[in-house]
Amino acid sequence: MCHYRFEERNCIRRTQGATEQLIVYAMLWNEDLDRNPAHLPIKSLQIVYGSGTIAVEVPDTAQMLIFRRDLIDSSESVRSALNASAVSAKPSKENCQHCPVKLLCQPYWESLPSVSSDDHLSNNQVTLIKARGDRAWLATVTASAAIEVGQKIIVRNYEGGKAFWNDLRSGLSIRLTDGVLSSQEETDVPVFNLSMMSEALFLS
Ligand code: SF4
Repeated sequence: MCHYRFEERNCIRRTQGATEQLIVYAMLWNEDLDRNPAHLPIKSLQIVYGSGTIAVEVPDTAQMLIFRRDLIDSSESVRSALNASAVSAKPSKENCQHCPVKLLCQPYWESLPSVSSDDHLSNNQVTLIKARGDRAWLATVTASAAIEVGQKIIVRNYEGGKAFWNDLRSGLSIRLTDGVLSSQEETDVPVFNLSMMSEALFLS
């Protein structure tokens, strides 16, 4: 049993993993004629934690066959991925959240518009249009999980902010990470506030 809400997702994953593990054991027990020569059936399956016990339904023969087939298929795909000469990128929120090379990862930025965004920090690729004073640029979004491609945005530096700011110019395409989105009430143009963690990659 999970005691804390923030642990629930991990707990569910852990339990799913343990359930699959138990079914693998059940499958081995069913087919191991050395240790189970009389082919004794499995009567119950249980995952026992310090905090409680979880009963797992014993799969019938048909379910066991499907499980076996799935296991063989997923082992095959892992094997072929490991043997592939190039490892393909698999961008996702979970995979990429803390990836240190995401600024350089083209598949990540291409995937952004199809990713749902409920993150506090936002990553956006933009093309700069025009400076708005010393600390802001009007830009067009070219990749983002939170803003539609083509929408105008204000990119704002923070006080005493980023060193690359002086190198910005009209027409520059740039990737920016770890900013915070807010809205500019008078114009409805979203504002992308750079933070101390923000990094940039100049594209062209
Ligand atoms: S950003 Fe690219 S390299 Fe990093 S985890 Fe995501 S897909 Fe992999």
